Amino acid sequence: AGEYGPERPGRVIAHFGRTLDVRGEDGTTLRCHLRANLEGLVTGDRVVWRAAEDDQGRVVDGVVVARGERTSVLERPDARGQLKPVAANIDQILIVFAVEPAPHANLIDRYLVAAEATGIAPVLVLNKIDLLPEGGGELMALLERYAALGYPVVTTTTAEATGLAALLKRLDGRTSVFVGQSGVGKSSLIDRLLPDEELRIGALSKDSRKGTHTTTTARLYRLPASRGGELIDSPGIREFGLTHLDEQQVAEGFIEFRPLLGRCRFRDCRHRQEPGCALLAAVERGDIHPQRFASYRRIVDSLGET
Ligand code: GDP
Ligand code: ZN
Repeated sequence: AGEYGPERPGRVIAHFGRTLDVRGEDGTTLRCHLRANLEGLVTGDRVVWRAAEDDQGRVVDGVVVARGERTSVLERPDARGQLKPVAANIDQILIVFAVEPAPHANLIDRYLVAAEATGIAPVLVLNKIDLLPEGGGELMALLERYAALGYPVVTTTTAEATGLAALLKRLDGRTSVFVGQSGVGKSSLIDRLLPDEELRIGALSKDSRKGTHTTTTARLYRLPASRGGELIDSPGIREFGLTHLDEQQVAEGFIEFRPLLGRCRFRDCRHRQEPGCALLAAVERGDIHPQRFASYRRIVDSLGET
């Protein structure tokens, strides 16, 4: 039996039940177990860990002894529909959509509302701009509307060497996740950002990788081409969407509605045809875009369907 070394800061890069891969500040990764009184840790958590050493002072194992405060948590429903944290300390949600397949009317708004409900900053990424028509077309006009609301927007293409420059800048120094419907190019983007297979499996030491823990849980990767940028990815995270929201949360997910909420004549206004509705008046004045308001309606009407 060995001794435990000093307490060190680290970050969970993957977890398999009570076994975690933790990366220390020097960049090395160690497979750790959890101290008995700790649970519920997820990928991205900041932790305090101690290395267990053998008689010769070689590190053989680690133990996670404490979890740091979380700045954010991403939750997904489990098989029973209960929300469970799947990743922590994410700085931004990159909502990827594409020129082809083009997003249908309220898809972007659905992702934005879901992102706003987590409190994690959304970023809109339009991929496959190599397929844009001359002049940009409707999609670029749509993107400008979101930029005017204050959302960062980035355009990318994996078809050209220079297509990822803006995205790389956006990823610098932050922890990001990619979400979006199938076929928009998430895998292609991530493949380009993590070109090295060794990096993609987390740069674990050979020892740590022995015993194939095939897992669909989230994994944290360092983005080699960015300055300190990190990416958390899993099939479940990519399928991120609207869950467990009520009408009030949906309304708050439309950022331009926020200053108007609570200003309707009736406190329980549902913004349908009530007299003195502040939202309807704003649509009338042109302060709320009719498409955004139509999106809001459609999302509210679909609550409970998902
Ligand atoms: P995912 O389902 O979001 O992970 O999408 P994929 O990465 O699998 O991409 C779907 C398809 O779009 C593939 O055939 C890719 O080769 C293609 N694709 C991805 N990025 C681009 C791009 O920037 N331009 C073009 N023209 N095709 C792309
Ligand atoms: Zn109202």
